[in-house]
Amino acid sequence: MARCLVTGGAGFIGSHLTQKLLADGHQVTVLDNLSTGRSHNLSDVEDHENLTIMRGSITDPVLLAEAVQGTDEIYHLAAAVGVKLVAEDPVRTIETNIYPTDSLLRLAVQGGQRFYLASTSEVYGKNVKSEWCEEDDLQFGPTSRPRWAYGCSKAIDEFLALAYHQKYDLPIVIGRFFNVVGPRQVGNYGMVIPRFVDQALAGGPVTVYDDGSQVRCFAHVREVVDCVVKLTRTDDALGKIFNIGSDQPISMRELAEEIIRRVDPSVEIQHIPYQQAYGDNFEDVNRRVPDVSRLRETIGMSPSMPLGHLLSDIIDAKR
Ligand code: UDP
Repeated sequence: MARCLVTGGAGFIGSHLTQKLLADGHQVTVLDNLSTGRSHNLSDVEDHENLTIMRGSITDPVLLAEAVQGTDEIYHLAAAVGVKLVAEDPVRTIETNIYPTDSLLRLAVQGGQRFYLASTSEVYGKNVKSEWCEEDDLQFGPTSRPRWAYGCSKAIDEFLALAYHQKYDLPIVIGRFFNVVGPRQVGNYGMVIPRFVDQALAGGPVTVYDDGSQVRCFAHVREVVDCVVKLTRTDDALGKIFNIGSDQPISMRELAEEIIRRVDPSVEIQHIPYQQAYGDNFEDVNRRVPDVSRLRETIGMSPSMPLGHLLSDIIDAKR
């Protein structure tokens, strides 16, 4: 049995990770300020004897040290997330995403924990390659466009984790999530699938931004957290970065059509200009598809649930 700390453990991905670790027989401490996470996300396990929930912010150094105390593994998922939220509050993004990661890494050097750092496909910026692999260039837009603050802040986290690995031999693993979806994800922070499903269930219209030719790949959260735990426990993964996601692409127009077909074929699609959706100074990423060969070679698996299954799971949960 391992003693695990999950920062952001009440969030969408964090709560699924917490549930998996508990189901596997481990002890879990969740540190979460419930800003984008919701206590409701842990309602299935909140009385579990192996779960401790600490409500507070990772920006509080005393609390952070207390949470790390006595653990064997740290899963650092707490962050200011969601392109919409990040564009609206860039100061909070930087404060939440950079300083606490450094503090946690320092604590792990003292405590010798294995350290999983949750990163994001946003670090590739707007690289135009059709598939992104971990050694590709990061191509951000100008600093006057707040969107890039998120990817940049997580790229700094990656530099920090790699530096602590090199300098102190800290056993770190970095995973870059690509559009993770599943039950309990909410659409408030921009996430497209819960938004489309909510809109379709409410009778529409489904709001496709711009012309809907943007491409994404969607991975089921349960497959994603399986990969996270397996990577963290694989010696060959230490000191490395991994794309974690599905590699089955779909355009946002096709996605909207597929959701409408499943929920209510009479619902209409409404195209909305980016400026109306996100305000001025927004830039979207046109195509985001991961190369997951490194993940497959290292742990022998990658998220592969077909989109149809994934959508039924989400639609059923929302119904
Ligand atoms: N999107 C959309 N309608 C919405 C929300 C999002 O067309 O109501 C588009 C958005 O412009 C982007 C894609 O869906 O091209 C995925 O957006 P999301 O915020 O889920 O993730 P990310 O941009 O981080 O991939």
